[in-house]
Amino acid sequence: MNFYLGIDFGTSGARGVVIDQEACIQTQVKYPFETSDGLDLAVSWQKALFNLLEQIPTRLRQEIRAIAINGTSSTVLLCDERGNPIDSPLLYNDSRGGTTIEQLRSIAPANHTVLSATSSLAKLLWMSQLPSYPEAKYFMHQADWLGFLLHGQLGISDYHNALKLGYDVEELKYPQWLDKLQIKIRLPKVFSPGTTVAELRAEIAANLGFRRDCLVCTGTTDSIAAFIASGAKSAGEAVTSLGSTLVLKLLSHKRVEDARYGIYSHRLDNLWLVGGASNTGGAVLRHFFTDAELKSLSNKIAPEKASVLDYYPLLKAGERFPINDPNLAPRLEPRPKNSIDFLHGLLESIARIEARGYSLLQELGADQLTCVYTAGGGAANSAWTAIRTRCLGVKVLSSANTEAAYGTALLAKAEGVGSRESRKKRLT
Ligand code: ADP
Repeated sequence: MNFYLGIDFGTSGARGVVIDQEACIQTQVKYPFETSDGLDLAVSWQKALFNLLEQIPTRLRQEIRAIAINGTSSTVLLCDERGNPIDSPLLYNDSRGGTTIEQLRSIAPANHTVLSATSSLAKLLWMSQLPSYPEAKYFMHQADWLGFLLHGQLGISDYHNALKLGYDVEELKYPQWLDKLQIKIRLPKVFSPGTTVAELRAEIAANLGFRRDCLVCTGTTDSIAAFIASGAKSAGEAVTSLGSTLVLKLLSHKRVEDARYGIYSHRLDNLWLVGGASNTGGAVLRHFFTDAELKSLSNKIAPEKASVLDYYPLLKAGERFPINDPNLAPRLEPRPKNSIDFLHGLLESIARIEARGYSLLQELGADQLTCVYTAGGGAANSAWTAIRTRCLGVKVLSSANTEAAYGTALLAKAEGVGSRESRKKRLT
């Protein structure tokens, strides 16, 4: 049998999913991060990685042909020439790099994705002021470093992780303006996500009973892995994440970037994954209702009838996408006495914002929307799905799978079967 392993390092824990040739799940393993570990972050990642490998049943380990890992976007660390971290990693949401933005603004193109306090490049500049920096030889993303632990090659990344480091994903090279920073250490060499780097290190294969020719591939980021997991593959297909916030991602032939709305595109083989994120979403629902109430009240909504209530559900003022207005006030009036009507109005209003978001992406050049897969806590709400189908005017489907580890296993599978063509077919 041929099996493929995807590993996801998310915000609260690590997961592994083993799939077979037909992309059916063979096993899933989990490792929750414990803050009480008292360990250095990188040490705890290493512990999590090997714990996941050890949890995979031995009979499956022997049949795994390829492994890929995804990390959280812009979680980064500095390493010495042997790959040992020289300081604690900086997590995805660490904004200490904000102090370098002025410097970056003077060299990076206006509105570039690196011009954010949490970008990988801002973090690298911040770390370059640390006393330990002179010992650093490599700058790595979380997924790069975890991959290194398995294949032993330093200084390798993928163009999903490298986007916020400033890597030019259109030209597939680092841009010239980066030279002005005179970065003294090695930036990763960047490959397509899911490209074979090397075989699993021989001692790991021998100790844990993996195949000696098991391949380790370049990885991706957690949100792109979750997109791949959804089953969306063709231009025009999209994934809406109905979590605390509302996140839209639409596969397109054309790259769309618009800093006014926080819209940017990741490369996905020969397509672009165009994304935008609104501040509306499930966090506002949770402010008014418990999850149990959301479920029971939603069942009483007549979703075929449009609600006349016209809200802009936000927890606090300010919106970027699909309306760019840092002062946009929440609009939650008038509030009907009946909770079912109120919830109907909220769900309908969020669905209208979702439709407006997809319209904006298309106005800016993205392909016409053909269907929407759904992920996140709101995906199970069938009344909301019916309301959204009416507002969006296209088919709304449940994601085949929402686990990032599953999407990353699909990446490993595409490479592990030795055919880049098969991955292209999946994504075009
Ligand atoms: P995140 O990972 O962004 O925190 P999740 O994907 O876990 O979010 O989804 C949690 C959100 O889903 C909550 O904000 C909650 O309001 C919303 N939610 C939970 N159950 C339902 C439901 N039945 N209908 C609509 N929304 C729901």
